[in-house]
Amino acid sequence: MRPTSRPAPIIVDTLQRPLRDLRISVTDRCNLRCTYCMPREVFGKDFVFLPRAELLSFEEIERLARLFLPLGVQKIRLSGGEPLLRHGVERLIERLAKLQCTDGQPVDIAMTTNGVLLVRKAQALKDAGLSRLTVSLDGLSQATFQRMSDSAAAVGTVLDGIAAAQAVGLTPLKVNTVVKRGVNEHEILPLVEHFRHSGIILRFIEFMDVGTTNGWRMDDVVTAQDIVERINHQHPLRPIDANYSGEVAKRWALADGSGELGVIASVTRAFCHECSRVRLSTDGKLYTCLFASAGVDLRDALRRDTGNEALSRLIAETWQGRSDRYSQMRHAATERPVRKIEMSYIGG
Ligand code: SAM
Ligand code: SF4
Ligand code: SF4
Repeated sequence: MRPTSRPAPIIVDTLQRPLRDLRISVTDRCNLRCTYCMPREVFGKDFVFLPRAELLSFEEIERLARLFLPLGVQKIRLSGGEPLLRHGVERLIERLAKLQCTDGQPVDIAMTTNGVLLVRKAQALKDAGLSRLTVSLDGLSQATFQRMSDSAAAVGTVLDGIAAAQAVGLTPLKVNTVVKRGVNEHEILPLVEHFRHSGIILRFIEFMDVGTTNGWRMDDVVTAQDIVERINHQHPLRPIDANYSGEVAKRWALADGSGELGVIASVTRAFCHECSRVRLSTDGKLYTCLFASAGVDLRDALRRDTGNEALSRLIAETWQGRSDRYSQMRHAATERPVRKIEMSYIGG
């Protein structure tokens, strides 16, 4: 794993934030229909996903990744949709894992997956050079899992996937849990109890108003403070320092030494002032905020034979012109709703 100190920024945006993290959505398709992300009423059988020709190819993704690195990117996270549905995704990881950052270190390659296909993919991901893996899991009971994911998938499949990832050494492994009031909040303590002593870092995420289809209401958000209080009541917690500036999860240690967990207060404690992430959608649009409504079409530039220098300039200028801080402005923004892109398309 790379050292925790970070080199001087190469480019900064209008709020002096460096570019460090690139998130790539490798598919807009998914084998689950989590109600907070791809509600079935919208992403049903008539929904038209991107045709294959519109997806960035692995060659195109690698070419773009090579242009992002000299601008300061140190981490690349593959996401989606469900990244394990992208055929041969391990071959993409293999290509990306060979790239170097400006400090001479290999780029850190991470993935966020729902874990349904992980049992059979874990070894290939490890062999390809994946550095870190996050598995999303919103409950341990089949009933809650099914309700959150609106699917017939078995929660045991995801748990087996997590075990397989640990067994092949994809560690430290993280598990992400989105908490929705009245739906899975009763799973908070069972999840903590299940994952303590395992070395797995459990992270609770406030339900966010990404996209325009998940029917988000502030009343459905269980706040980070509430989550911490509930856990602390049963299992005393001790705060721990961030690994690096810009880390989104507030870290806590279980005081009895049985593990670590994180809480991501995307709604109640916005971290826009430290946001160093840029996102590349499945079809090659560059978005400087998770809540953006428009992106810069890099695929079009690529396919019009734009040279690397001009592409790099386009990326740098996009970052340098960035002033996004949606979460800090959420209150005003939700009073004047705009059409935001969906998370499954832009990559979580
Ligand atoms: N399918 C993969 C998965 O679920 O891990 C990767 C893509 S998913 C969009 C990435 C992450 O975004 C997941 O951990 C998911 O729980 C989270 N997410 C999606 N919609 C969300 C929302 N409305 N609020 C908070 N987190 C959300
Ligand atoms: Fe699919 Fe992940 Fe969205 Fe759930 S959160 S619908 S698993 S992309
Ligand atoms: Fe970054 Fe936008 Fe999220 Fe703020 S709202 S932390 S700028 S992605």
